Amino acid sequence: MAIQRTFSIIKPDATARNLTGAINTKLEAAGLRIVAQKRIHLSLAQAQAFYAVHSERPFFGELTEFMSSAPIVAQVLEGEDAILKNREVMGATNPADAADGTIRKEFALSLGENSIHGSDAPETAAEEIAYFFSGLDLVG
Ligand code: GDP
Repeated sequence: MAIQRTFSIIKPDATARNLTGAINTKLEAAGLRIVAQKRIHLSLAQAQAFYAVHSERPFFGELTEFMSSAPIVAQVLEGEDAILKNREVMGATNPADAADGTIRKEFALSLGENSIHGSDAPETAAEEIAYFFSGLDLVG
């Protein structure tokens, strides 16, 4: 498998509890390199645009209000098979179902406040990276 890039967000529940470093340690231990990173506070409109794919889902309001409630840390991660590797270290969406040692098992508070986002496919990774970063921001 070739070197890939994926997009990650450390979510508001985690930044609020000062867990950025602890989560980055897990990402790096999984073999992922943080090649871009910035802490920002999304507006509601920016969160709605990012999660537009979920706009018809019943939890869209709750999700976008949460994602714009406090700062996030947006990241680009690089590594072999990075998309799948990141999904593995994140753990299942619902922390109750997440495997031991995963970020969501260790840190997530609930299905909604689940500490981390990660792209699920190469197309979404490219779109999500471009939404937050320019090519000049990516330093491998
Ligand atoms: P992910 O790829 O594992 O993040 O999961 P999804 O793409 O299915 O959902 C996106 C995000 O929406 C999840 O990470 C949760 O934060 C949130 N979410 C999913 N389902 C629910 C739900 O039933 N209620 C709430 N409040 N949030 C949800």
